Amino acid sequence: MVRLTPVSATVTRWRTEAYARLHARLSAVVGDKTAKAFGKLGIATVGDLLQHVPRRYMAGTELSDLSGLREGEEIAVLAEVAGTKEHSMPGGRGRLEAWITDGRGRLGLAFFGRAPLIKYWQSQLAKGSRGIFAGKVGVFRDEPQLSHPDFVMLDEYGKYAGGSKANEVLAQVTQTSDLIGIYPATAKLRTWNIAESANLALDYLGEVTDPLPETVRERAGVLGLTEAYRAVHQPRDRAEAARGLERLKFDEAFAIGLAMARRKAIARSHPAVPRTRRPGGILDAFDATLPFALTAGQQLVSEQIFADLEQQHPMQRLLQGEVGSGKTVVAVRAMLDVVDAGGQAAFLAPTEVLATQHFQTITRMLGELAAGGTLDAAEHATQVVLITGSMPAARRREALLAAAGGEAGIVIGTHALLNDQVQFADLGLVVVDEQHRFGVEQRAALGAKAESRPHLLVMTATPIPRTVAMTSFGDLETSVLREIPAGRAEVSTVVVDVIKNQSWVPRAWERIVEEVAAGRQAYVVCSRISSADDSSAGDDGFAESVEEGEEPREPAVAVEDLYAELSTGPLSRLRTAMLHGRMPPEEKDEVMRRLAAGELDVLVSTTVIEVGVDVPNASMMVICDADRFGISQLHQLRGRIGRGAHPGVCLLMSSSPTESDATTRLHEVAATRDGFRLAEADLRLRREGDVLGAEQSGRRSSLRLLRVLRDQELISRAREMADDCLVADPELADPGLADIVDKIEAPEWLERA
Ligand code: ADP
Ligand code: MG
Repeated sequence: MVRLTPVSATVTRWRTEAYARLHARLSAVVGDKTAKAFGKLGIATVGDLLQHVPRRYMAGTELSDLSGLREGEEIAVLAEVAGTKEHSMPGGRGRLEAWITDGRGRLGLAFFGRAPLIKYWQSQLAKGSRGIFAGKVGVFRDEPQLSHPDFVMLDEYGKYAGGSKANEVLAQVTQTSDLIGIYPATAKLRTWNIAESANLALDYLGEVTDPLPETVRERAGVLGLTEAYRAVHQPRDRAEAARGLERLKFDEAFAIGLAMARRKAIARSHPAVPRTRRPGGILDAFDATLPFALTAGQQLVSEQIFADLEQQHPMQRLLQGEVGSGKTVVAVRAMLDVVDAGGQAAFLAPTEVLATQHFQTITRMLGELAAGGTLDAAEHATQVVLITGSMPAARRREALLAAAGGEAGIVIGTHALLNDQVQFADLGLVVVDEQHRFGVEQRAALGAKAESRPHLLVMTATPIPRTVAMTSFGDLETSVLREIPAGRAEVSTVVVDVIKNQSWVPRAWERIVEEVAAGRQAYVVCSRISSADDSSAGDDGFAESVEEGEEPREPAVAVEDLYAELSTGPLSRLRTAMLHGRMPPEEKDEVMRRLAAGELDVLVSTTVIEVGVDVPNASMMVICDADRFGISQLHQLRGRIGRGAHPGVCLLMSSSPTESDATTRLHEVAATRDGFRLAEADLRLRREGDVLGAEQSGRRSSLRLLRVLRDQELISRAREMADDCLVADPELADPGLADIVDKIEAPEWLERA
């Protein structure tokens, strides 16, 4: 990880003095055994524990809702005993069954033990009395059941009145507060064990210096840190708990905001060569040959980019636009603007296949203008070269020379282009296609070598809701292309339940045959390559993994198997081919070339076709095991069809039950092609706040409490304050602020502590 902020000695000193206790190992406070159990929850320090906040709070006098319990879930519920029944077993042992209720639903309890113990439990569980019961939901005779739950009984005022274990903490908590925090727990660490540890941690902590400057605290109207921890773990009432939580959420939002503002400031502080627009050059010549008029959006975004390029500091811009919204044209215009100003542009694609395809598209778009260096070159022409690892050595050397000598105005390749081997005479602009594979680190690495940085244009077809953009790409300015240029076809999407409608599967293949007979082409997409793999993850590690906790099920259809089946069976009359990430690059390129040239009717592939592949004649897509893909991935895949004039059909084959999260996802995808709507639906449907995706996982831990949709207002407000802080204190002289930023930029500091 590139360190954007070296920790100053001041910060280090400040940390040791002011709040070393927050970073103390948990074992110092709760003992080794408990500390080890906390390790399973990812909690290592006193601070980690204090950040582990109750999922919800129960008033000792309210019953929990018992509907919707999920098997396997660790729960703690407050309920009333509805009855017990004792069964004796041979050898002086017994079994006690009990039922608890919330007044509507009921939940069974089961206890096993020697007779006296059974008697004791039975006496505790008097009919009509209330208690908190904790355990893992199992199923017994089709009914939910907790086997050997831990429990504590409460009196009529909601105060502690005994239980399976004498529990002092709960006794204390219920004496001083009407609220009991229910923590995310494990079998070894019950919610009251966690509460007890949190109390110990609070005692140990005493008062800590608040890293958040007082001015910010006041403006945000949030509690001090120590106070917030107390409010969250030992609230007197719900309002207090909410205020505690508000502060902790603000911290997350502010930290991200400050880190992003800082990154932006650092990027701006580097010099860049201004590239002034020069009329009458290659850009104007290109515009004159365009077979269509630019959309208003394309014009506007181009103007924003040209203005950025004229600045003395590097452009840092994110261009969002649906698949087919015409980003490539905008990128080409930006690159030509830089060429006109005497510089070079690099265009980076996520894979070699895509780099090759972009090379072809861009050369084709430029026509004669790309023939620079040849005798009959048009006036203003430049050279466009492709540099990939797999190209023949001689051609590669030639391309490298053209890049180093400056003859190549446009150099296309993968991220490997940023390697040392590739020299540029005057690199003025870097365009990155599909940012989500181009992380923050690469962004920072860009300018690390050069004295002055190239301008940067990052493009993504994944629509990013505003607050996600703020939290993940808050160091970039954003532009959006909202329209799809005229002439795009309709695509109808149908969810096919292959369990209920098995006849639909052969029907899908027939439909492909019909499409091909009408002159079209089709894709069949699978979520994995080979049935010999045990993983169901997709190609190149890009497929989103199946959600945890879902039922184990049939393995997904593999490309190799399905290809063998289709090419010898239902599609044997058609020209078919297979494509996946494990094939040699030349083979992949050849398959893509044949598809684009219309020499193939059907491509059976993995998600390698997700990004950028452009075959306007393709009108049909069948996605096998669509329930294993995420919303945005399905949207990306579907974007491969309906790119020309022909209406498309997309079949989402699914074997998930009607009432499942996966099916809900599929219906969202079927309902709209609006990428922004889908991106929001995606956020809504994710159970946890994992909005940044795997590639951003380094930062996931810093967004624990914030939910980017629900907390939009807070995120915007915190960002504003962070911006102001940075204006007032650009060098982060305030050790608290420096500490906040450093924790995000260098989380490994926590490991070292
Ligand atoms: P993106 O990169 O955003 O997916 P492209 O730049 O590849 O989109 O554009 C998709 C298709 O639309 C291309 O065939 C391109 O030539 C065409 N196109 C781009 N801009 C326009 C426009 N203003 N009017 C008509 N067609 C356009
Ligand atoms: Mg594109």
